[in-house]
Amino acid sequence: MEVNNPKIEVDINKIISNTEEIVNLAGNEGIEITGVTKVACADLKVAKAMLAGGVKGLADSRIENLKYLQENLDLEDIQLMMLRISMLSEVNKVVKYADISLNSEVKVIKALNEAAIKFGKKHKVILMVDVGDRREGVMPDKLFSTVKEILDLSNIKLIGLGTNLACFGGVLPSDRNMELLVDLQDKINQKFGLNLNYISGGNSSSLPRLKKVGLPEAISQLRVGETILLGSNVINREPFPNTYQDAFLLAAEIIELKDKPAQPEGKRGQNAFGEENLINKTGIRQRAILGIGRQDIAIEGLTPIDEKIEVEGGSSDHLIVDVTKSNRDLKVGDVLKFKLNYGALLRAMTSQYVTTTYL
Ligand SMILES: *Cc1c(COP(=O)(O)O)cnc(C)c1O
Repeated sequence: MEVNNPKIEVDINKIISNTEEIVNLAGNEGIEITGVTKVACADLKVAKAMLAGGVKGLADSRIENLKYLQENLDLEDIQLMMLRISMLSEVNKVVKYADISLNSEVKVIKALNEAAIKFGKKHKVILMVDVGDRREGVMPDKLFSTVKEILDLSNIKLIGLGTNLACFGGVLPSDRNMELLVDLQDKINQKFGLNLNYISGGNSSSLPRLKKVGLPEAISQLRVGETILLGSNVINREPFPNTYQDAFLLAAEIIELKDKPAQPEGKRGQNAFGEENLINKTGIRQRAILGIGRQDIAIEGLTPIDEKIEVEGGSSDHLIVDVTKSNRDLKVGDVLKFKLNYGALLRAMTSQYVTTTYL
């Protein structure tokens, strides 16, 4: 029988279990969880597992993925959220395929309004505020003027403020930045006579703090991908309590298995990626080449399940591993399995050369 390697094996029950853990943890604090599907490229079974685990909505950063979810899932009360602040050139699709979008540019929100008028829809907007990470968001001192312009738009419903942390600047959620956000929403409510009561407080990076000390009561929602899917505490990449780290495993096939000197022979320059690899090993090693490469995977994000195997490096289409110490009696055609980090999973799920199977 033909098997399709390389592949990602997804353990759906582990995703449901991880989701339940996070949903319950947040639910105890009155916070709802939106499941972020982008790392899994909006895989339908993964999205369904998140829903089965109790997320209140689904979110993705690519409008193509939201379209796919909307067309293939029975969503009823489930809201779809566009995570990446929208491009001017995609506002029609955003209004069509997302119920809510995160935004920071008035020009784009006005275009979303035009699109919403055209389609006879109301589009919900969360206004992103930069509380320190320096990725997307209005600076706090420009917030009032921005809100004022949004409130004039007939088919845009501003539902609250949001922020994103730990993505560009690596700034962690703190009392200070969380309270700043809550305080800004209070001030907007007072100034404009509103009662916005929705704050989208962050991503997986907020969960360790939520678990340890809690978040301000006014935070109502978190957008979570990584901790649900990979069970990681994203502050230190340690396991997050009571979650599985192996809901996704990569399986790749041995295409060459030979004893070779560890040291290359000949005058050395750069490899195909402009790097000069230092190899400290000596002697003869048993080395396997697997049929997967950097086109499909971030090789530095792979952890072999067999702890005695070591990833040595890779090129576009080949992954080289040292299997000298493995207790298995390996042969060509055998499959080796790896855990994946965020970057490795992201790339594998979006590679058209990696298939997905489900347990
Ligand atoms: C990717 C993303 C998330 C989810 O991040 P995780 O670390 O996977 O939980 C949340 N919000 C925004 C704006 C994102 O782009």
